[in-house]
Amino acid sequence: MISEKMLALARKNSAIRAMFEEGAGLAALYGRENVFDFSLGNPNFPAPKAVRRAILDVLDGEDSLLVHGYMSNAGYADVRGAVAASLNERFGTAFGADNIIMSVGAAGGLNVVLKTLLNPGDEVIAFAPYFVEYGNYVAGCDGRLVVVPPNTEDFLPDTRRLEEAVTPATKAVILNSPNNPTGVVYAAETIARIAEVLEAKQRAYGTNICIISDEPYRELAYDGVVVPYVTKFYPNTIVCYSWSKSLSLPGERIGYIVVPSAVHEYEIVYEAACIATRVLGFVNAPSLMQRVAARCLGERADVGAYDRNRKRLYEGLRACGFSCVFPQGAFYLWMKSPVPDAEFVEAAKRHNILVVPGASFGCPGYVRLAYCVSPDTIERSLPAFEKLAAECFGPR
Ligand code: PLP
Repeated sequence: MISEKMLALARKNSAIRAMFEEGAGLAALYGRENVFDFSLGNPNFPAPKAVRRAILDVLDGEDSLLVHGYMSNAGYADVRGAVAASLNERFGTAFGADNIIMSVGAAGGLNVVLKTLLNPGDEVIAFAPYFVEYGNYVAGCDGRLVVVPPNTEDFLPDTRRLEEAVTPATKAVILNSPNNPTGVVYAAETIARIAEVLEAKQRAYGTNICIISDEPYRELAYDGVVVPYVTKFYPNTIVCYSWSKSLSLPGERIGYIVVPSAVHEYEIVYEAACIATRVLGFVNAPSLMQRVAARCLGERADVGAYDRNRKRLYEGLRACGFSCVFPQGAFYLWMKSPVPDAEFVEAAKRHNILVVPGASFGCPGYVRLAYCVSPDTIERSLPAFEKLAAECFGPR
């Protein structure tokens, strides 16, 4: 009965599901406080108080037909205008309401953009390690994900290998900075070099290649590191943003897409993306949350708390002898696995530690730890990591 495409996805999904269930099983056995679950990117810090206030203000203060009704597929015009104005102020761009489409988080935005751009067999490039769902999203839109192998020196995109990966069938390149799973932020010169490569390939092949900038972690950057705005480097860029992490609202499913006027065939692309929103069944982004987000454009989750977690976990793991990338952004720590990553994940589980194998991100030999957990979880996990390290490296 089931479609072959969905059967393949469901079979693959069961491994992730099993890990999720395993965490619940361990918690039932040993108590939630004795299980150190670093597997999921689910923010453990609450949404800013301003979000709750905005929800109540919108419910009390706005016309309920407006708050709960259908609107244009792109979202409320005033909300889109407010998002555009806020971007212009922060990044010196010149967007208007008609460059913004409100989306069902970054996942909804990415699916809308891929649905808009891809013909069957079109190729979409991602740099390993990459967010595992890209493969599903691209396959779901009948495209083919082409993975550029990892640059394990510094985990920045390997632009020489990008040149080799682009073909006449390349429709898009996904960039994700701050990056899940490495925490690396792409500097201006890296983005400029990627833009150069793609401009040259567009000219050589007579094609149009879109950068899809996947930015759910844009606001989570530490030590004053700058996260450059990609549309300023490459005109054919579409941005997918989300408030899932920046406002700790992953379950509310709210974000937006930026389609700049400089995008090739902007008008028809924008129109088609609005239709894709409808065809995919979202119809529009959640109405209440659109209005709440517009009132919270200057708000952020507690980035300082993530920063403290980042430093404590990094230092704690290094003291145990593990080698990690010091994250500049997002809330993930990327650690070199001292043994094959699948083995390490199993060994960690024996100490009630849950981490995700690098192979899930197209980069075996590493593991990812999501440090969007309570500081207490990190503190109590460190003795368990020490025992795990002794097992991996032998007594020191
Ligand atoms: N892109 C990346 C890199 C992510 O890590 C995530 C979620 O973890 C998403 C997209 C999807 O985010 P959202 O909850 O906004 O759909």
